[in-house]
Amino acid sequence: MNAVVTGGARGIGRAIVEELVSRGDTVFIFDCSPPEDNLGASFIQVDISSLESIREGFEKINGPIDILVNNAGIARDMLAVRLREADWDAVLDVNLKGAFFCAQQALKRMMKQKKSYIINISSVVGVVGNPGQINYAASKAGLIAVTKTLAKEYAARNVLVNAIAPGFIQTSMTEKLSDKVKQEALTHIPLNRFGTPQDVAKVVSFLTSGNADYLTGQVLHVDGGMVV
Ligand code: NAD
Repeated sequence: MNAVVTGGARGIGRAIVEELVSRGDTVFIFDCSPPEDNLGASFIQVDISSLESIREGFEKINGPIDILVNNAGIARDMLAVRLREADWDAVLDVNLKGAFFCAQQALKRMMKQKKSYIINISSVVGVVGNPGQINYAASKAGLIAVTKTLAKEYAARNVLVNAIAPGFIQTSMTEKLSDKVKQEALTHIPLNRFGTPQDVAKVVSFLTSGNADYLTGQVLHVDGGMVV
């Protein structure tokens, strides 16, 4: 299958790319900068916050698009009363607007195919909220609404649209947090460990394996049983 993975250069996206490549998919990475090493995928430079850049990225791919994984995401954390407009816009532009317009571009082809998959990487924070992350939480909650709406709108075309809500996954996004914050987070995780990018990638693989084709419009929590 042909797969597009946004933000596939590092972290969770990179693990998703590796997982899909290892099972034989042809993978296109949409990212601002290339991966550090050769992942066996094609890199296409795309700024997910720009519709023009997204359009150009999709134009570079010939043939069907069977899988889109909207994984690119950023955080600009600040308490609500101090959040600047630029930081609201930056986060919403990548995490929500960018993900939607990638889906729109992919859907134009997917609608003509027999079966295809869109997976949106949301966050547990989009379900339960988190102090200091108002823009991020809003973007991830919005992505769940996009997931559920697209699932209903394109079910008749057999486009299966689901979201994954990871909990605390060890990547560059979380390694900046202090040891105190990490220890506190661990107390809410019954499985008593942080997730790995592979924990998320394996679920993407399952959702697109053909063994989960009666799932659409769902949010899968990949969070070690997090109690929040
Ligand atoms: P990361 O920062 O390690 O990687 C994000 C990737 O997205 C990078 O390769 C980056 O270059 C790319 N990217 C950022 N802005 C972009 C843009 N404008 N255009 C194109 N590419 C862009 O982050 P991660 O931890 O791997 O997170 C991946 C996804 O998972 C994000 O959507 C994040 O919100 C979500 N998530 C992460 C965690 C976690 O604990 N790490 C938890 C829940 C959800």
